[in-house]
Amino acid sequence: LPEQEAFDIEYWALEEAKLQRMPKPRPLAGKVALVTGGAGGIGKATAERLLRDGACVVLADIDDSALASAHKDLAGRHSEDVVRSLRLDVTREQDVIDAFATAAVEFGGIDILVSNAGISSSAPVDETDLAMWNRNMDILSTGYFLVAREAFRLMKKQKTGGSIVFIASKNGLAASPNASAYCTAKAAEIHLARCLALEGAEFGIRVNTVNPDAVLRGSKIWTGEWREQRAAAYNMKPEELEEHYRKRSMLKLSVYPEDIAEAVFFFVSDMSAKSTGNIVNVDAGNAQSFTR
Ligand code: NAD
Repeated sequence: LPEQEAFDIEYWALEEAKLQRMPKPRPLAGKVALVTGGAGGIGKATAERLLRDGACVVLADIDDSALASAHKDLAGRHSEDVVRSLRLDVTREQDVIDAFATAAVEFGGIDILVSNAGISSSAPVDETDLAMWNRNMDILSTGYFLVAREAFRLMKKQKTGGSIVFIASKNGLAASPNASAYCTAKAAEIHLARCLALEGAEFGIRVNTVNPDAVLRGSKIWTGEWREQRAAAYNMKPEELEEHYRKRSMLKLSVYPEDIAEAVFFFVSDMSAKSTGNIVNVDAGNAQSFTR
């Protein structure tokens, strides 16, 4: 009957409006996350994602001015009560120890570590000097070891388990032209995460890896020299790079910092409670990894 139909439509519209007004569940409420490289593209998008779902976040970065601006932005959108920022160089052992101690005092503990601080470098192997090689190893491999070790120490003491996510790279699995130092350091990150997953399991500490493909927009490492060098490695103009990456993906989509943040959210939430030692590539389906 038309009256009944009209009644049903109105009834369900009211129910839907009621649902919309209800407070949304906040799956990370009560959790504290430390995000290294938190002032950068992927780090900041990840911090935003975790804050949105109720976590308190400590941004840790070596870049003071980017850190201040990320802090202002995130605290403005969420609240000063849930965002802290601290200067951290992940290659300096004492800095890392102090950072974890400070973060633990500020928020009473750490449940989530997103190890994301990074750089990029590009050069053919015969033009890779030892300083470039060591810089990649120091930040991307040793730095990841140092922050993960402090997270382990704290999480084991807390006896509450925890979740660690490494932002590595698709280049840690696939070779990329003129980037041997970067690719090797990223491969070490991926293997370190697997070793730590094995060690952490009995303490409820999960360790997983997210591998982005090229994330050009929002990323500081994609500005300047690196952009030029990558374009040269592919024999194209810098402005053609984004289209190159989009086209080579199976889904023909570009990857953004927010896409990486979604994968991190999966690994730090209870949705992945039974997942450790795993790797997720966020690359819109990179056809280079498949034989067709
Ligand atoms: P980004 O440059 O925007 O952010 C990186 C952040 O790390 C910066 O804020 C920088 O100040 C910080 N950092 C650098 N050295 C540090 C140190 N020693 N101690 C503490 N902080 C330090 O770059 P992004 O694209 O957001 O990269 C984040 C991570 O994702 C990196 O590990 C990078 O290798 C990885 N990744 C990026 C891409 C990409 O295309 N953007 C692709 C694959 C992997």
